[in-house]
Amino acid sequence: MIILVVNTGSSSLKYQLFDMEDRKVLAKGICERIAEDGHMNYKVGDETVFSKDIPLPDHGVAMQLVIDALIDKEHGVISDMNEIHAVGHRVVQGGSLFKKSEIITPEVEAGIEQLSVIAPLHNPPALVGIRACKKVLPNAIGVVVFDTSFHQTMPEESYMYAIPMEYLEKYNIRKYGAHGTSHRYVSERCAELCGKDKSEMNIITCHLGNGSSVTAIKEGKCYDTSMGLTPLDGLIMGTRTGTLDPTVVSFINEQTGMSASEIVSMMNKKSGLLAVSGISGDVRDICEAEAKGNHRAHIAREMLLKSVRHFIGAYAAELGKVDALVFTAGIGENDIELREKVCDYLGFMGVKIDTEKNNSRGEEVEITAPGSTVRTFVIPTNEELMIAIDTQALADGK
Ligand code: AMP
Repeated sequence: MIILVVNTGSSSLKYQLFDMEDRKVLAKGICERIAEDGHMNYKVGDETVFSKDIPLPDHGVAMQLVIDALIDKEHGVISDMNEIHAVGHRVVQGGSLFKKSEIITPEVEAGIEQLSVIAPLHNPPALVGIRACKKVLPNAIGVVVFDTSFHQTMPEESYMYAIPMEYLEKYNIRKYGAHGTSHRYVSERCAELCGKDKSEMNIITCHLGNGSSVTAIKEGKCYDTSMGLTPLDGLIMGTRTGTLDPTVVSFINEQTGMSASEIVSMMNKKSGLLAVSGISGDVRDICEAEAKGNHRAHIAREMLLKSVRHFIGAYAAELGKVDALVFTAGIGENDIELREKVCDYLGFMGVKIDTEKNNSRGEEVEITAPGSTVRTFVIPTNEELMIAIDTQALADGK
């Protein structure tokens, strides 16, 4: 079965075409700067076939150009667009409405639209992508996979906020989490690598990238996660504050006259590692500056390490027993020193890693040392493959 996975942003459209026979990526790429000056990139395997400026007035045009590239006589990978059996779309916010992936129906589209209130930057572009795709590929089955649905198994004591019930009930204010597709993929892969059923394992998954979240998974189901109503909560991130006293918002408002939404935007885009280091939100730049003796870069690095340890420690206590720990995403997969410096503190919960095995970047590897009671892994995340697997299952009627 040939499946197209689409991830639509406000001005971008990322795509990957899978042959599910061997789960191989036939082609992939990105259309960027949609409704601006337009740029499209198209790769077959790992080879870039083209990367060019091209007018992309809207997502519909971008989608059509993707299909044109995929079926092109010279560099295409399929001969007819009808070979695409199904399309899987990534949707950031599924709220409490969507507890699993769904086949797209008018009701599902209405649900995604309704949830735009809590994901104004993400759900509307996803709908644009869904509609553009339906026009270009009218015969393909459409599926939506939500970043939040994996976290829907959280118990009330994990997802509720301790504010008066009327706000929770009237406005659906609660913890939804994010990166759920990534946490699900790496935890399922971890169980597979351990030769166990996911229901037999308690796992802590650390998705550490530009945006970061840690998730506690109890017997295969999400028990708690560090992001909240929005991805601003939890760990310190590239440009996001992570958890902080909400009074900071009203205090800044009173002192500066900035509105609540201006302050929240500053907390999303100009804070975190970028603000503390004064240099960059990228961990590589921070490490480079730290090595040269930059004190603020050093504090930023220490805050990140502390933040990761904090959530792993908290979730170990919440779970009571941890069978495995997984690192994933840009930082989790590549930052050897971070993994070592985090795990150095986790001996109390039975984590011991092998520094030789840990000396690897971007590869799937078990880094557990002899005598460790917690199996520790680096597992490159693959949200697109997870979306393709769900899409195939639903298209197959499973
Ligand atoms: P992601 O959001 O998953 O793409 O992760 C992006 C982040 O990964 C970047 O901002 C970097 O901070 C981090 N990163 C990538 N490579 C490395 C590396 N070799 N060492 C440390 N951090 C890295």
